[in-house]
Amino acid sequence: MIREQRMRLEYEVVLSLGSNLGDREATLRAAVHEIASLPGVTALRASGLVETQALRQNGIDPSAPSYLNAVVIVRSALDPQALLAALHEIERDHGRVRSTRWGDRTLDIDIVSCGALRVDSPELTVPHERAAERAFVLVPWLEIDPDAELPGHGLVRDLVAGLDQPFSRYPAEPLL
Ligand code: ATP
Ligand code: CA
Ligand code: CA
Repeated sequence: MIREQRMRLEYEVVLSLGSNLGDREATLRAAVHEIASLPGVTALRASGLVETQALRQNGIDPSAPSYLNAVVIVRSALDPQALLAALHEIERDHGRVRSTRWGDRTLDIDIVSCGALRVDSPELTVPHERAAERAFVLVPWLEIDPDAELPGHGLVRDLVAGLDQPFSRYPAEPLL
């Protein structure tokens, strides 16, 4: 008897979440649970929260509302494009509006990495092109995975050691 067997690829996906409008902590908390409830997605670990000043196209803007950020590691049976579509829907459900680049937002969810996979399509670049230079991505990621590696850039702990960006820890109950 020939039984059809479909290989089910699963990826360990690192997600970066950010919010600088509305009840930032509540939004991130809800978003983590919505991500964990996606079919084919299992949440493995969530970082604590960090707070950073908003980054605009011409640099840090201390007059803009500051960001809360967190990193969540999930196992996903969805392919990266399908996962991105699901994440965009969660952003929309939280009132995300895309107007100016790097403008204020209720919720942003980026795919930082997908195991060792590389994606380079018009809608999706993995690893995320700017992750290597962002303390608000690397610091919470390192917290939940001390041996983390960003494909093409090396160990996250080395990247963090080379960064000089201010951030503060934001005390909160665990997200997961
Ligand atoms: P940045 O990418 O610098 O963090 P942003 O998150 O504010 O900026 P968005 O407006 O949220 O940018 O996204 C713009 C587009 O980026 C999305 O519509 C999506 O198609 C694309 N994109 C490319 N690579 C990724 C990725 N790794 N994660 C999320 N979105 C991505
Ligand atoms: Ca982003
Ligand atoms: Ca984004």
